[in-house]
Amino acid sequence: MTGGEYTFSVRPTRKPVSAAERSALLADPGFGRVFTDHMVTIRYAEGKGWYDPRVEARKPIPMDPATAVLHYAQEIFEGLKAYRTPDGGVTLFRPDANARRFRESALRMAMAPLPEELFLGSLEELIKIDHEWVPDDPEGSLYLRPFMYASEVYLGVKPASEYLYVLIASPVRSYFKGGAKPVSLWVSTSYTRAAPGGTGSAKCGGNYAASLAAQAEAHEHGCDQVVFLDARKMKYIEELGGMNIFFVHADGHLVTPPLSGTILPGITRDSVITLARAAGREVVERPVTFDEWRTGTASGEIVEAFACGTAAVITSIGTVRYAGGEFTMPNKGKGKVAASLKKSLVDIQRGRAKDRYGWVRRVL
Ligand SMILES: *Cc1c(COP(=O)(O)O)cnc(C)c1O
Repeated sequence: MTGGEYTFSVRPTRKPVSAAERSALLADPGFGRVFTDHMVTIRYAEGKGWYDPRVEARKPIPMDPATAVLHYAQEIFEGLKAYRTPDGGVTLFRPDANARRFRESALRMAMAPLPEELFLGSLEELIKIDHEWVPDDPEGSLYLRPFMYASEVYLGVKPASEYLYVLIASPVRSYFKGGAKPVSLWVSTSYTRAAPGGTGSAKCGGNYAASLAAQAEAHEHGCDQVVFLDARKMKYIEELGGMNIFFVHADGHLVTPPLSGTILPGITRDSVITLARAAGREVVERPVTFDEWRTGTASGEIVEAFACGTAAVITSIGTVRYAGGEFTMPNKGKGKVAASLKKSLVDIQRGRAKDRYGWVRRVL
């Protein structure tokens, strides 16, 4: 039970969910409402470092009302999936990339960075004890949610001197049953997600809190998701609330906004770039204005747009609505390039295709 120099103490729950109840839950878990039996916690204190890594029953965490995170939102998280392999094993997809990004997010939020071996060790420990919660069906996976917050009890505004890292897991089915339905997007000109110098490239809860009013605005306009423009000029496409975006041009090349500090560096985004290039497509990272998207779609220069992220993998974009009107991507958003990239990616994630990149890590 070691993660490098660290040893996790493991205390299995005395009240695990019964096998019958678990299979009932796994039949239709939805997203983010069903949880496994255990959790991992690791503590940090200034001067002491990381200590007390443990695996124990999943349970509420008592909290003092003056706990810093409740006041100043010093919090970060990650999201990745564990997959059941055809031979009954369990794999993770690029967990080292999540470990690295978790460190980067911590540094931006002035938090103590968790050593990557502890992050990876926590994933392995939780999967080992809760492996029966990894769905068998080809659409399902176990969504892992590592997060960390300022646990110091103090109302002063400063980087906290104590942090709690927690890992929980939730079995999920594919976001969209029976094939992907294209998403509709609302282009917000009342809200932005991230400004230069801000926290746009950190995976922190605060970015999501700030995006909810824009998301509500999207719903009011009958759209599934919001797409944000840049904060400086309100001109360039950035990303969705929790997914990166790609455009497919008529000659087959892909364009995606560059990682300029205001966009979250998605691991799916990075994987899509690699797979598209391996399939012989040119991929260009450059700024794209909303105007280019609108006029390019009208002229036939842009033939598809899709969003990508761990939860929904790759989702075609259908209708795009904005203050001055709306347009729909060709073929009502049923993009062929998006579908083929999704298949390449999912086949690697699920062990159905050869992993040339060392992305898949077997944990059981
Ligand atoms: C997590 C996230 C993404 C997608 O990242 P993946 O690593 O591909 O899951 C994109 N945008 C935002 C804002 C995110 O928080």
